[in-house]
Amino acid sequence: MKIVFSDFDGTLTVNGKLGAFFFDLLDIIEKNNSELVIVSGRSLSWGHFLLTHFPLKHAIMEGGGVILSKNVDGVISEEFLVSDDELERLESVTAKLQRDVPETVLSVDSFGRKSDRAIEFSQMKQTDVEKAESYLLKEKANFTRSNVHVNFWYGDISKNFAVNYFLKNYTPHIKKEETIFYGDSLNDESMFESFPNTVGVSNIISVLDELYHKPKIILEGKENAGAFGVLNHLKEIFNQSIDF
Ligand SMILES: [Mg+2]
Repeated sequence: MKIVFSDFDGTLTVNGKLGAFFFDLLDIIEKNNSELVIVSGRSLSWGHFLLTHFPLKHAIMEGGGVILSKNVDGVISEEFLVSDDELERLESVTAKLQRDVPETVLSVDSFGRKSDRAIEFSQMKQTDVEKAESYLLKEKANFTRSNVHVNFWYGDISKNFAVNYFLKNYTPHIKKEETIFYGDSLNDESMFESFPNTVGVSNIISVLDELYHKPKIILEGKENAGAFGVLNHLKEIFNQSIDF
């Protein structure tokens, strides 16, 4: 596997926390001449944090709305996969949503987002979340749920679209078949649908019934929750005991 694409929340964390296992993961990936590219619904500013503090060259953030890259001097650049018109529409509809559905709780990191916004659904009543989602539907916004947020945006944003774009434009020598994707939630479904090597860590069980397209391999057991599952599976892959 030349690139390990992975979701962040619930996939590279365990019970919401990042731990020493994350460094074990980075280590095993590097030792096997592979590269980790995090593909997350978290904000652009989170992407800056990840690239600044960890030995990562690229990160795909905001559910696929932006690709961040770090050059050899440590300078980070951003490429947006949506148009200026779509960014403006998002801004105006977000303001309207807050006015017309005042129960909407925007995530605290929404100020650090450009290509999408996020709703903190755990701080809202289920009926209010549905009200906000109906409003977004009426405004023809796209939206999806991650473990932590309902993200919404305009334009063709998906993890699948962004990863395909990344492979074509950033690493054209690498084929889809030479990559693997790990995920755990509904916003990973576009990857499960279209990528050949996909794995769900065991905590994906909580949303499995809601996924129309499921990962090719679904890990089981507490020992394969989040990053532990990724780590165990990568060890098997790099020992070549698994065939897809
Ligand atoms: Mg997740």
